[in-house]
Amino acid sequence: MLASDNAGKLKEINALLHASDFVVVGQASLGVPGADETGGTFIENAILKARNASQYTGRSALADDSGLEVDALDGAPGVHSARFAGSDATDARNVAKLLSALDGVPHEQRGARFRCVMAYLRQADDATPLICQGTWEGSIAEQGRGDNGFGYDPVFWVVQENRTAAELDSGLKNRLSHRGQALRAMVAQLVQMSRQSS
Ligand code: IMP
Repeated sequence: MLASDNAGKLKEINALLHASDFVVVGQASLGVPGADETGGTFIENAILKARNASQYTGRSALADDSGLEVDALDGAPGVHSARFAGSDATDARNVAKLLSALDGVPHEQRGARFRCVMAYLRQADDATPLICQGTWEGSIAEQGRGDNGFGYDPVFWVVQENRTAAELDSGLKNRLSHRGQALRAMVAQLVQMSRQSS
């Protein structure tokens, strides 16, 4: 189970798991309420979310916590990426707030990266969760472009592709992205774990 209600993430993660034996379902379909993301780090929040889901279901749980770090904003929005524009934030409002915060900042100072941490808990009191991370370097465009993906994708400039993340097809985004990197590492660990226990 994936401890998330974010349809964009669920779609990406299941696409990435396509070639493996794993499938994830969203926590909402199992009646799990969202966890309070009170941690100050991606790692703490990923564990909080996975533990909450595992407590409610009695099953193992995978959670990711991710966000955007912008150099010119001293790493903000970071762990607050989903709610950057406030409690009624939407992707569009978050992007608008980001562009306005970077108004006038020149291209060479618009460096940014997405980070993703994944946590897998075998059960709620798992004392040794599996943790994997991924980082995707880029910069923030001056205006949004593209309709794919979610969140800050329309303004995340992928330098080697010369376009935004929202202009990449999902296969290419998954090959490059922070979430793709973290999930591939996690699947490798899960496969190893299941071999050791069989
Ligand atoms: P959380 O991990 O659910 O707390 O939310 C992370 C937030 O970071 C999302 O709601 C997006 O705003 C942003 N984010 C994380 N990964 C991506 C991505 O791949 N593309 C665009 N935005 C992302």
